[in-house]
Amino acid sequence: MGKFLLWAIIILAVLMVSRILNHQKAQARQAAERRQAAQSKAAAEEMVRCAHCQIYLPRSEAYMSRGKTWCCAEHARLGLKQ
Ligand SMILES: [Zn+2]
Repeated sequence: MGKFLLWAIIILAVLMVSRILNHQKAQARQAAERRQAAQSKAAAEEMVRCAHCQIYLPRSEAYMSRGKTWCCAEHARLGLKQ
């Protein structure tokens, strides 16, 4: 009976340790994934400058026309007029 209890405690301890290790690994993986996601988002959100008012804005929000970038349709119109 004493031997059985000892083994039960050892098995429980091993299970607990492996659970803690798995949890730490999962956390490290999640942190790495978050870092990667942040990096790829930063790369996707390259900043460009409006050729009219010189304001910086994300490329995804910029207007592109004749090889230049603009912050809005109005500035694209004004800039292309010159
Ligand atoms: Zn502008």
